[in-house]
Amino acid sequence: MRVYVVHLGTVLWWAFTSLAVGIVMGVFSAGYIPVTSQATNALSGLTIVIDPGHGGIDPGAVSASGLLEKDIVLAISRELESLLNQAAVRTFLTRRGDYDLADNVTHNLLERKRQDLQRRVELAEDCNADLYIAIHANYFPSSIWSGAQTFYYDSDVEGKRLAEAIQAELVRVLGPNKRLARPGNYRVLRDTTMPAAIVEVGFLSNPREAALLADPHYQARVAQAVYWGILRYLRS
Ligand SMILES: [Zn+2]
Repeated sequence: MRVYVVHLGTVLWWAFTSLAVGIVMGVFSAGYIPVTSQATNALSGLTIVIDPGHGGIDPGAVSASGLLEKDIVLAISRELESLLNQAAVRTFLTRRGDYDLADNVTHNLLERKRQDLQRRVELAEDCNADLYIAIHANYFPSSIWSGAQTFYYDSDVEGKRLAEAIQAELVRVLGPNKRLARPGNYRVLRDTTMPAAIVEVGFLSNPREAALLADPHYQARVAQAVYWGILRYLRS
């Protein structure tokens, strides 16, 4: 009986260990990012505004197969929000559905765009965001170009560091890409007062990359790359 008890204890210990290892392996094989205490320490308590570009009557770039930038960047933004929330980051998405931020009565397209961008900046300022990250997809008349790329405002030293850190992780996580973080004179970068970066997640004009960007698994990887980029920035 005594022997039986010892054996039962051993069996239970192995069962517990195997279960724990199985859970950890499952978590990693699913590409899930475990919230380590290090990550939580660096991120917790921050407020980050995630700005999915376009929306509503403005689809952004459109791939040859009909994929819309506004839909892809919203899906990636939601993934990024979920990862950040697991690390106790307060997040604000500038939009959560298919709409822009302009007044409904504004019909002039240029004025709509101006109001829309101004409100995205105001939202980041009003919630005292520590970081502002816009998510967009790129487009070029030639279909040969591909690769994710980040942008920052020239005089925003911290924004440059943030964009470079995210660029490094995009290259590391998504594969070969010779693009570098570049300065860009975009209103949302120019008018925000916190470190700000635009992430162009890839080219919808490249059929191969467009197909990848429409894949939820790839969207999750892009979000993970941005997440790791934010961590890299905070630790550097
Ligand atoms: Zn865009």
